[in-house]
Amino acid sequence: MKLLKEKILTDGRARGSHILKVDSFLNHQLDIRLLNEIGKEFRSRFQQDKVDKILTIEASGIGIASIASQYFDYVPVVFAKKAESLNIDKEVYESKVHSFTKNKDYNVMVGKQFLKEGENVLIIDDFLANGCAAIGLIDIVKQAGANVIGVGIVIEKGFQDGRKKIEELGHRVESLAIIEKMEEGKIYFK
Ligand code: 5GP
Repeated sequence: MKLLKEKILTDGRARGSHILKVDSFLNHQLDIRLLNEIGKEFRSRFQQDKVDKILTIEASGIGIASIASQYFDYVPVVFAKKAESLNIDKEVYESKVHSFTKNKDYNVMVGKQFLKEGENVLIIDDFLANGCAAIGLIDIVKQAGANVIGVGIVIEKGFQDGRKKIEELGHRVESLAIIEKMEEGKIYFK
């Protein structure tokens, strides 16, 4: 997606060779015009698919998924909540996720009433690195007996193995920008 790549080049900041900061348009301040285009692009990538719900993860995924929903006929957006410890509440689906940026484990949970058997769920997130967040969401969809339509990612770091792991689980990954490498502050796309 050309507009997104241009924005990453002008406003993204490589922190070493592994972390990309996009706080000025995606992770802290939000560029709504860009988010609208991202939403349209997700729609065109999943045009053939019946989507009943979009599932994302707090906090950065919420804005992206909410704007995208408008291009999917305003389907509900559910965001998984992050929790420090396992919940004793039986009314939630839970999965353990390792945070790439914070290097620690946390649990993600979704109330059982918000994901139903047979629903077609599109998973959306801001970044794909090692795939832990997306795989945790996939696990939750499966616990609910719902179907994963695919995983839509705004920025994939192609030098990490998230895509490989998700594809090995049999799911489709659509990323709007794929970074090949980051070197000396420069960002290179695939
Ligand atoms: P994964 O679970 O695929 O290893 O990492 C994805 C999650 O970690 C995303 O939800 C995102 O919040 C965070 N993340 C991973 N890599 C980056 C990065 O380079 N920059 C930023 N801003 N977030 C990242």
